[in-house]
Amino acid sequence: MEYISTRGRSAAASAAAAIVQGIADDGGLFVPASLPSYFPPQLAEMDYCSLAKQIFELYLSDFSAGDISQIVDEAYSPAGFPDGAVATVSLDNTEVLELWHGPTSAFKDMALQVLPRLLVKSLSKTGGDKEIIILVATSGDTGTAALEGFRDVPHTQITVFYPKQGVSAIQELQMVTTGGSNTCVIGVDGNFDDCQNGVKLIFGDKQLAAQMAARGQYFSSANSINWGRLLPQIVYYFYGYGRMVAKKKIAWGDAIDIAVPTGNFGDILAGWYAMKMGLPVHQFICASNCNNVLTDALEKGVYDRRRPFHKTISPSMDILISSNFERFIFDISGNDSAYTAAAFEQLRDEGIFTISDSLRARFAAQMRGGYADEDSCRATIKRVFEQYRYLLDPHSAVAYQVADQLRGKDAPPLLLVSTASPYKFPAAVLDALGKLPQDKGELELPAYLNQLSGMPIPPNLAVLGELPIRHQQVCAKDAMETAVIAHLGLQ
Ligand SMILES: *Cc1c(COP(=O)(O)O)cnc(C)c1O
Repeated sequence: MEYISTRGRSAAASAAAAIVQGIADDGGLFVPASLPSYFPPQLAEMDYCSLAKQIFELYLSDFSAGDISQIVDEAYSPAGFPDGAVATVSLDNTEVLELWHGPTSAFKDMALQVLPRLLVKSLSKTGGDKEIIILVATSGDTGTAALEGFRDVPHTQITVFYPKQGVSAIQELQMVTTGGSNTCVIGVDGNFDDCQNGVKLIFGDKQLAAQMAARGQYFSSANSINWGRLLPQIVYYFYGYGRMVAKKKIAWGDAIDIAVPTGNFGDILAGWYAMKMGLPVHQFICASNCNNVLTDALEKGVYDRRRPFHKTISPSMDILISSNFERFIFDISGNDSAYTAAAFEQLRDEGIFTISDSLRARFAAQMRGGYADEDSCRATIKRVFEQYRYLLDPHSAVAYQVADQLRGKDAPPLLLVSTASPYKFPAAVLDALGKLPQDKGELELPAYLNQLSGMPIPPNLAVLGELPIRHQQVCAKDAMETAVIAHLGLQ
């Protein structure tokens, strides 16, 4: 399987090269040159790891079956996923696909437990004795999941920058208690944009890159434009469908609806690829919060990021530039790289591009967009808890609510992609239930929510308060590069 750039001005690459490079030389994203067909009749009986191995083999033709098997078994081992990789819960006509049983209790673990292992194997294939320095700017979930994924992975180091005042107490503790001999966590006196700009400046420093290359070190990023992060996400759509067959919600071959709480468009795009491979899907529901740039793009054909940015109780969806939307446009345009390049260069330069009516007609029936504001998100958490005694986190609640808005009376059964444990956002969840205590700190809230709901606290969050703090460094927003240079011992 070869990988090509969405902008059409880079040479095709092997899977290993695409994973090491992350982004194509022409600024585009790597996509498979063609999508393989896959829809095995025994889907309902397959365990998660067997399914992952089969799907990885279709896409990673330069990896041996033995390598793939080892990567999958290690990534989803009971050490990181004590309850199994994925759980599903039935709420009437809806099957909730819980993707948050990994080491940091958000769905990013599904991909970030795999990416470092793919990267190390890819490095050995592309030659040389290199060391990869992963730099991450995070508003919360990506940093914690990337730290867990990369810690103690040979030939890698990881440095995470987070806004010192801009993440929740739980997210901060998850990061600063991370162990591992190759991890570094730095709080920045600034906001998430400052962190992201700082990381971009470090990536762009040619002199620093040359200095590092002389020592065999290279920067890379762990964000969701890397093909090695997208591929693992295809698997759970097939798995969720298999569970719905096993539970007799549908018969094998029936089409389902799929609702996804969306930020960078990576998760839902993996579902779209699953459909193109053969998974029977009636409709995707792309759910946003008040940062509803994707709703407008899908429903009106205008992608316009020139709008106010809202901080919400579903912070991992507070995004105005959904990088993976480029892969979607490339796909629906029939792999038209000239069209895709023009659209996304216009987005970069002018902050807007339009999708023609004829192009929109190619996906309008199968990819719907909608959004839920803060009040309706909170009301949904309350309503679902009262009806089913089941807690949704704010991101998953947005998707539940938007699915309710968009689906007709005779819509097929719904697969609801649930992306975080409610215990990662206990203040927002308790507030939605009208039960937020005024006299408790954030770290006491999980236990309180547990008393109220009876839902178990994920093991990693339950022990958080007892772990030693290992990272205490804080830097000014214009001192990030200095901090990296010092950490690498370059001076
Ligand atoms: C990252 C994240 C999302 C958004 O996923 P994308 O792939 O960026 O669309 C949704 N919910 C949670 C909890 C997340 O961490």
